[in-house]
Amino acid sequence: MQRSTHIAAVFFIWSLSYFYYKISFTFALVAALGAYLPDLVYFRHRKYLHNVWVLIGLSLLVLYFSDEFVAIIFGLSYFLHLLLDAVTRVGVDLFWPIKFFTFGGPLRGGSIFDDVILLAFVYGGIYFFIKILI
Ligand SMILES: [Zn+2]
Repeated sequence: MQRSTHIAAVFFIWSLSYFYYKISFTFALVAALGAYLPDLVYFRHRKYLHNVWVLIGLSLLVLYFSDEFVAIIFGLSYFLHLLLDAVTRVGVDLFWPIKFFTFGGPLRGGSIFDDVILLAFVYGGIYFFIKILI
């Protein structure tokens, strides 16, 4: 998936969560960090940062420096990133370096379907954001 799709997914989930549960903007920033962090490494990026070991390790690190709620938000947004990448043809080795569990789907990253998913998250996020404002 495109980075913008990951960020739009977090925007949608934050606006939806804020509308129903009043989750603060600080948690949106933590969620955005969790959604963006896996794509920071360009070299073999779907290996080093796209697995459950890094997800668990970073979530524990966040837990050490903050509280359970922030760690859960971070971990869920990180997992959402892995899930969105897992529906692409390239897929994700969730248990890398163990090659047994490569998850992949039919979508091509950057394709029209990726754009459709991006627009759905953006419009959904804007819809709930407007509902928050009024
Ligand atoms: Zn990714």
